[in-house]
Amino acid sequence: MAKVLFINPGPSGHLNPAVAVSKTLVERGEDVVFYANAHYKEKLSGTGVELRIIPSEPIVEAFTTYGMNHLFNVINGLLKTTDIILPQILEDVQHEHYDYLIHDSMFGCGHLVSQKLNIPTISTVTSFNQTTQMFDDFTKNLATTLTQDEVDNANAAFDELKQHVEYTYNVDVPSRFEVMNNPGDLNLSYVMEKFQIDYASFDSERNYFAGPSVIQPQPSGFMDEIDRSRPIIYISLGTIFNQNIAFFNKCFKALKDLNVTVVVSIGNENRLEDFEDIPDNFIIKAYVPQTELLQYTSLFLTHAGMNSTNESMMMGVPMLAFPQSADQPVVAQQIEDLNLGQQLNAETMTPEILKQTVLDMLGNLEYYQHNIDQIRDTETNQRPGYELAVDRILAFRDQNCK
Ligand code: UDP
Repeated sequence: MAKVLFINPGPSGHLNPAVAVSKTLVERGEDVVFYANAHYKEKLSGTGVELRIIPSEPIVEAFTTYGMNHLFNVINGLLKTTDIILPQILEDVQHEHYDYLIHDSMFGCGHLVSQKLNIPTISTVTSFNQTTQMFDDFTKNLATTLTQDEVDNANAAFDELKQHVEYTYNVDVPSRFEVMNNPGDLNLSYVMEKFQIDYASFDSERNYFAGPSVIQPQPSGFMDEIDRSRPIIYISLGTIFNQNIAFFNKCFKALKDLNVTVVVSIGNENRLEDFEDIPDNFIIKAYVPQTELLQYTSLFLTHAGMNSTNESMMMGVPMLAFPQSADQPVVAQQIEDLNLGQQLNAETMTPEILKQTVLDMLGNLEYYQHNIDQIRDTETNQRPGYELAVDRILAFRDQNCK
C-alpha cells in the first residue's frame, strides 16, 4: 500500500473523472488523501479517500481576478490561486509522508506542490493534452488577436505574480505553459487517444490516454417516463455555459413537428417561464442522469463539453455540437473533423437549418456511429477508463517509488 496525495480542487468537469479513479485506487489498497473544493464533499464521500477541503469561494475569487476574456488572463488567475492553495497544503502535509502525487493538470498548482514535495508526480488531464510546441503556437496566435494594451497588461500581471510566487514559496514558475498544464512525470488523460489532437506527437512514456473515466450507469427510473417508441434526441449545453434561452427556443421551433422525443437539460439557472411555448414532444428538466439517458439516445445536441463528448462517444451517440465557450470550439471542431457528428453556430443558425441538419443526421446515424467505433480503441471499449488509469498509476508507482 502506498500513500497518495491527490489534489483536484477544480469544478465538476475536472473532479468527475477523478471520483472513479480515487475510489478504484482505494479498492486496490492505496491510502488516498484527496484535496477537493467544498462543493464536491458528497461526490467523494463514498470513495474511501480521506477528504480535505479547500474553500471554493477564495479560489473562484482569485481565479477570476483578471477576467476570463482571454487565456492570458485565465492563466494569471490560475497563478493567483497559489496563495490560497499552496500554503494550506504545505502546512497540512509538513509532517506527513507521501509516496506519490496525483494532481489535476489545471487546478491546484500541481507543478508547484510537486517541486516542494519532490515526489513522483502524475498530472491528470480532462481536456486535450498539449505539447509545449502546441501551446506556444496557440499563445502566439492568441497574442495577434488581442490589442497591444491587453497583451502588455497580461504580461505585466504575469511577471508580477511569477516574481511573488517564486520569492514567497521558493519555487520555479518557468513559463505560462507550466501554470496552465502543470505537466507531471506522467500525464494521464481522460480523452481517448484517437480523439486527441495530433496524438502521434505525444511521447508514450510520459503520456497515457486512459479514455473516459465514467462509471456504467445503473437504471434510476428516469427512463420510465420517456416515450421510447420513437428516436430520442437529447439536448444539453452542460452545467456552466447554459444560459442561452434563444438556442433552446430555436430547438423548440425546429424539432416540434418531428416524430421524435426530445429531452432537454436546461440547467439550474434557467427558468421555464423564460422560454417560449414548450412543444408536446419535449421533456424539459433542470438536470438529467445523462449517461443513463445517452444509452437510449439517437442524437445528442451538445455544447461539446469534454465530459459530455466523452460520454457520448462511450455510448456510441452521434453529436450535433453547439460550442459555447472554453475548449468547446476545439472539441466541436474535432467532432466535425473526425466525422463523429457535425457542428452549427448556435447564434447564426435558423430553426430551418437546425431541422434540416437533424433530419440529415438521423438519416445517417450509422455513418457517424461507425466513425465513433473507430475512435474507441479496443482496449478502451473493453474496460472503463478509470480501471485503465489505475493500472497505469500503479505501474508508475512500482517503477518510480522506492
Ligand atoms: N450532466 C448530467 N446531467 C445534466 C447535465 C450535465 O449528468 O443534466 C453531467 C454530464 O454527464 C457531464 C457533466 O455534467 O459529466 C458536464 O460536463 P461537460 O464537461 O460536458 O460540460 P460543463 O458542464 O463542464 O460545461
